[in-house]
Amino acid sequence: MYDVLIIGAGPAGLTAGIYAARGGLKTGIIEMGMPGGQAASTEKIENYPGFPEGIGGFELMNKFHQQAEAYGAEFIFDEVQTLELRHDVKKIHTDSRTLESKAVIIAAGSKPRPLNVPGEEKFHGRGVSYCATCDGAFFKGKQVIVVGGGDAALEEGSYLTRFAEKVFIIHRREGFRAAQIAVERAKNNGKIQFVLNSVVEEILGTDHVEGVKIRNVKTDEKTILTADGIFIYVGTEPNDKFLQGEIDVENRGYIITGNLLQTNINGVYAAGDIRDTPLRQVATAVGDGALAAVEVEKYLAELKD
Ligand code: NAP
Repeated sequence: MYDVLIIGAGPAGLTAGIYAARGGLKTGIIEMGMPGGQAASTEKIENYPGFPEGIGGFELMNKFHQQAEAYGAEFIFDEVQTLELRHDVKKIHTDSRTLESKAVIIAAGSKPRPLNVPGEEKFHGRGVSYCATCDGAFFKGKQVIVVGGGDAALEEGSYLTRFAEKVFIIHRREGFRAAQIAVERAKNNGKIQFVLNSVVEEILGTDHVEGVKIRNVKTDEKTILTADGIFIYVGTEPNDKFLQGEIDVENRGYIITGNLLQTNINGVYAAGDIRDTPLRQVATAVGDGALAAVEVEKYLAELKD
């Protein structure tokens, strides 16, 4: 029986693990992939305090992971399937076992949202990618497309110019959701060309990506843009598959929390990208993880009384 089980080993889950284990709780962190979450596949993180030169996402997350382990958090590499959380003993059913704890922190994060256009599934891994850090090097000297106008699209678009000869950033309007610094950096990069007021209607190719069909939303004009790869950065959606009605979520599936990160179920907290929050950054995920772990400590102390 664990004191607390944390679902997800991204920045929120790892921070919760550091605080909980350091606070003397028997802590388990369940992770279905590599620790570090989406942050680990970010090439460089420039806005996490303490690293004025920036730090590689993988390197930073590796440090979080080491710190959680050093304090005694136990890592359980398994995929969560279902939850039974309504009683004092919380049960988490994974692929291979049932784990029990007195409290739970859900920090399962989010995943890239698909564009949902013809060709996307067919060419996934054959030119369609959601991770520039993972796949950018395959496009040395080639022409690639990035879709989106948020931080991820602009930052990863700039990163891709290290490899690609030309990067087209296709965005559906003229204004950008991304921070001004990321927009300016992309605008000043001679290898980046913006294709604005445009949407991708289809990804074209035979056995790998050869281009995209785009439509200008103002003129309705359709054109074909040749490219060897397409990186899709049109936002994220919660990793909510295992929640299955146990936890209250808002209309997009993000977990609704109170200001102390409590969910609708006693002893169950949510932290980081999976919760309904106005900002999704490593810095905010870290704050969430710390608060959730401290709230768990208080909850467990009250259970004893
Ligand atoms: P995001 O901020 O939600 O931006 C998604 C972008 O995709 C928006 O520009 C949106 O256009 C566009 N879009 C959405 N659906 C589309 C569709 N069907 N077709 C075409 N375009 C579509 O997502 P994100 O950039 O992945 O970032 C996710 C979160 O992580 C954000 O909170 C972000 O700040 C954070 N993040 C931060 C950093 C950093 O600070 N260094 C880096 C990466 C990510 P509209 O603008 O028109 O809606």
